[in-house]
Amino acid sequence: MAYNIAVDGPAGAGKSTIAKQVAEELSYIYVDTGAMYRAMALYFLRKGISPEDEASVSAACEDITVTLSTENGEQQVFLNGENVNGYIRTEEVGKATSTVSAYAKVRQKLTQLQREMAATTDLIMDGRDIGTCVLPEAQVKVYLTASVETRGKRRFLELQEKGENCELEQICEDIRKRDEQDMNRKISPLKQAEDAVLIDSSFMTIDEVVGRILELVKENCS
Ligand code: C5P
Repeated sequence: MAYNIAVDGPAGAGKSTIAKQVAEELSYIYVDTGAMYRAMALYFLRKGISPEDEASVSAACEDITVTLSTENGEQQVFLNGENVNGYIRTEEVGKATSTVSAYAKVRQKLTQLQREMAATTDLIMDGRDIGTCVLPEAQVKVYLTASVETRGKRRFLELQEKGENCELEQICEDIRKRDEQDMNRKISPLKQAEDAVLIDSSFMTIDEVVGRILELVKENCS
């Protein structure tokens, strides 16, 4: 049976940075499920389908194939065969993703794909519903969070480094909205699984969080 580590938590908690490092340490595959949802949202935006229009979004799901590969340790996402890594990290796509990921059709499609991958491959998968819904049998489950202020500041510094103009208060407001939408949707809302270990990274370094997860894996294997 494959070994699965599930990491869930809100936007900006550091899930992908941390999961990527844990994957490297263990020589596991890292799966960023947010990127898969983002690829689907990109498809709807490109086709001019409003993210609010659930019927049209659901019908269009049939036309979409999302696949993943890893190149130089980085996950690559393919939308109907096209590598879309360079197009999915914008605020516009992020907002549309949070809307369309609430729909049953969108979730069914990606949940199935994620379960298929996890059944045969040792991996660490991050997202919002991995421990609660996608992989309820995962050997290790982590709920990684941090305060809105900490997450906002991290995002602010990231954008500044990229030379993008931004306001800290606006970023914190967007994060609050995204949390609200992800935590309150009907299907697979973001919440801590009962058997997940809570890690608040507000006052922890990346290395400390990675170390804590590796400890959990060791404890689980002994
Ligand atoms: O993790 P990331 O910020 O890239 O995810 C983008 C959005 O995709 C989230 O705000 C959430 O709405 C959705 N998502 C989800 N379930 C997952 C992963 C992401 O609903 N497993």
